[in-house]
Amino acid sequence: MRNVIIIGAGIGGMATAMRLQATGQFQVTILEKNSTVGGRANILEVDGFRFDTGPSLLLMTDVYKDLFAACGEEFSEWVKLIKMEPNYEVHFGDGTSMVMSSDLSTMIGELERIEPGVTPGYYRFLEDAGKKYRIGRKQFVEKNFNKASDFFTASNLKLLGQLNALDKLYTHVSKFFKDDRLRQAFSMQSMYLGISPFDAPAVYTLLPYTELAEDGLYYPEGGIYALPTAMAAVARKMGVVIETDQNVTQIMVKDGKARGVCIDGEMLPADLVISNVDLPYTYTNLLEKRPANRTEAAWKKQPFTSSAFMLYLGTDKIYPELGHHNFYLSGDYKRNFEEIFDAKVPPRDPSFYINAPGRTDPTVAPPGHDNLFVLVPIPHLTDQMTWDEAQIEKFKTKIYEALEERGLTDLRKHIVVERVVTPHEWRDLYNLKFGAAFGLSHGILQVGYFRPGNKAPDVDGLYFVGASTVPGTGVPLVCLGAKLVTERILADFSELPTAVSQEAA
Ligand SMILES: Cc1cc2nc3c(=O)[nH]c(=O)nc-3n(C[C@H](O)[C@H](O)[C@H](O)COP(=O)(O)OP(=O)(O)OC[C@H]3O[C@@H](n4cnc5c(N)ncnc54)[C@H](O)[C@@H]3O)c2cc1C
Repeated sequence: MRNVIIIGAGIGGMATAMRLQATGQFQVTILEKNSTVGGRANILEVDGFRFDTGPSLLLMTDVYKDLFAACGEEFSEWVKLIKMEPNYEVHFGDGTSMVMSSDLSTMIGELERIEPGVTPGYYRFLEDAGKKYRIGRKQFVEKNFNKASDFFTASNLKLLGQLNALDKLYTHVSKFFKDDRLRQAFSMQSMYLGISPFDAPAVYTLLPYTELAEDGLYYPEGGIYALPTAMAAVARKMGVVIETDQNVTQIMVKDGKARGVCIDGEMLPADLVISNVDLPYTYTNLLEKRPANRTEAAWKKQPFTSSAFMLYLGTDKIYPELGHHNFYLSGDYKRNFEEIFDAKVPPRDPSFYINAPGRTDPTVAPPGHDNLFVLVPIPHLTDQMTWDEAQIEKFKTKIYEALEERGLTDLRKHIVVERVVTPHEWRDLYNLKFGAAFGLSHGILQVGYFRPGNKAPDVDGLYFVGASTVPGTGVPLVCLGAKLVTERILADFSELPTAVSQEAA
């Protein structure tokens, strides 16, 4: 048995632990700095309110079924999924709104109401996006690329053409829809990845496609936190050791090999180390030596995703105008993204998302109360944009005004619980570089072969999993990343020296 240490009990860390332990060839220990597992997919319980803190939209459920099956478990026995219908409501800046639904007749009704005659365009959109989903997932997302020549094959270059790899998402969506509201409704999903639809590659039409036509959108009974809870339980059942409140301060490297990790000056030996900590932080803070393209200065030159300004609110009344998932788009859709990603300043007229899970699950709040989380995409931390206390207070007031203007009348009078999370918390709680909530960005030069890989090129026995390595951010993608790094380790296994742990000890 090889002794493996995984740093971090995020979704990626736990999924990797499950897969490796299930092979019977590894004894896995996860060391997590916080007192709870799940990483960004976490939970906050205050005065009878239970908030999921990060992810709220569960997509691509086949990925979790496959993960649990690899461990000999039936996913549905651990997590009960509730399909959302409708998926969500999108409120546009002009005061109009539309429902997005995987029920075709509902969807066509909504589309025709906004843009009469658009139905054939919608079918063409689904056909195109479905192709992107299938090609993108099979040929690029679910594959390890070892070297440039594996990626840049003649057939891949042809496939990249079919994915309109060089087109931008918003421009591509505009080929199918004339009304700007529909262009917004089918491009805003790039914000699930923390990137602008004006910069995101066209392939991300696969996001609305998965929600509307492939698998749908789900909510696990008990909340999203039911997923990491089940993952930790299955991992422990198989023998994975998960230790919380263990802040790893260094990955020990000797003679070009990872030998273990250090906590408070104490060395814990391992044959393999896998870092689930955000990859840029792993390089700048956990390794003594790093290549020139992995230094703090180098990361500052790389595009990162947005951060997220979060309000977790318990109210003493229920807002019936809200569905479970509600998107409110800025009156100036494009400028909002330019402010977040180009100027990197607080948006003047922000888009935001309200999660009101009480519509599906009454246990998230005391009777007669509402549980709301408000997510506002904002710029991550930069030397200029420090999100100091005054900026945060001013922005919070702006958001409350916007929420009240857009229908949540007298919201501030009804708040009984308020927790605010800013880029500082994302940075400090989970060690996310620059407080970028979704990690490294996903432009065309930061995906596939161009994204930092899951194996350290310069340190033997050191691997990565999570949002800032391949294939990318989002709960299903980091789970797929766990499968990729497991395959990578199994392929490398025969090359590993034996009993490194004994030598290091
Ligand atoms: C606000 C928000 C909303 C989101 N919404 C969605 C959504 O709706 N759907 C979706 O699919 N995705 C969503 N995401 C993205 C998704 O949450 C992430 O991509 C995913 O959870 C990242 O998992 P990860 O494996 O990279 O690990 P992380 O969540 O980054 O976990 C890494 C773990 O490592 C630990 N750690 C860090 N440093 C150390 C150390 N030195 N020692 C020990 N442990 C350490 C951290 O505490 C953490 O637990 C959202 C993210 C955010 C922030």
